[in-house]
Amino acid sequence: MKPLLEVKDLKKHYPIKKGLFGKQVGAVKAVDGVSFSIQPGETLGIVGESGCGKSTTGRTILRLIEPTAGEVLFDGQDIRKLPPDEMRKFRTNMQIVFQDPYASLDPRWTVQRTLEEPLRTHLKLLSEAEIKDRIAELMSVVGLAPYHASRFPHEFSGGQRQRIGIARALALRPKFVVCDEPVSALDVSIQAQVLNLMQDLQSQFSLTYMFISHDLSVVKFICDRVGVMYLGRMVEMAPTAEMFAEPLHPYTKALMSAVPVPDPEAARERIVLTGDVPNPQSPPTGCTFHTRCPYVMDSCRQAVPEWREVSPGRHVACHLFEQ
Ligand code: ADP
Ligand code: MG
Repeated sequence: MKPLLEVKDLKKHYPIKKGLFGKQVGAVKAVDGVSFSIQPGETLGIVGESGCGKSTTGRTILRLIEPTAGEVLFDGQDIRKLPPDEMRKFRTNMQIVFQDPYASLDPRWTVQRTLEEPLRTHLKLLSEAEIKDRIAELMSVVGLAPYHASRFPHEFSGGQRQRIGIARALALRPKFVVCDEPVSALDVSIQAQVLNLMQDLQSQFSLTYMFISHDLSVVKFICDRVGVMYLGRMVEMAPTAEMFAEPLHPYTKALMSAVPVPDPEAARERIVLTGDVPNPQSPPTGCTFHTRCPYVMDSCRQAVPEWREVSPGRHVACHLFEQ
């Protein structure tokens, strides 16, 4: 099947400026050459420690942030090459759900106004009655009652607020939604409800998700495939079940070692990471994980490992897999 989204060698480098004249003295390589594709209807998870570039990847794909380099093809089209008119139309196809709905919702706006705004801005042809119907439908699909429409964000619980965030993302009937840690700020008991809702909505509206999370149990629950990021690069990508059964990259093994295993008999190889994530302003040479990797070899310090398909559907960037 043709992918819905293709990301090719995507980079986002933030300049570091110093002094009165803002001379550029370096760059933070927030995303440094990431490539992958997402199939229609799929949920691709992106995991990794805080600061590894997950949010920057998601936002650059949506062009909320301009990439430094690389290509993003949506439905086979390079969205950078679209004229502004087409781009506006395209934007309605790609939406985002943020981690903290309280910060991303305007506190002075009622739910009604929050949901109306994208409809009025992008779908100017809708009549008042159509807008009213669309809002009622949106609220009902995310499990909110009609009387909630006149309320303000502070009148809701965290889980309800995230439902409003989801309704807003779905207002324009997008095909693709970046979910940036959508349940991380919620109580564990509420997380499952919101995740179930997101799964229901995915099948109901044929959505494709990119699901960013630092929580492996959430990713295991909701994702079909998972990509693991470290310091702005993708180090491994695989179908979820295969990744959890047999992680290949030492960093993926380390991330999984930190998760309790329900069956101690099934104990896997455990790697406990020492040291901190290096500073992304001056990342290590070669494989950026080499400073923390228990299997480090000479070649790891010198050469960046290639992103290779080591078995069908499984990609890894590690010198251990290059022999
Ligand atoms: P994650 O979502 O995985 O926690 P981010 O994508 O937010 O990571 O950030 C990746 C790196 O880019 C971090 O080192 C962060 O400090 C840096 N970064 C993010 N946004 C900016 C910005 N606007 N200016 C400079 N550096 C940034
Ligand atoms: Mg983030």
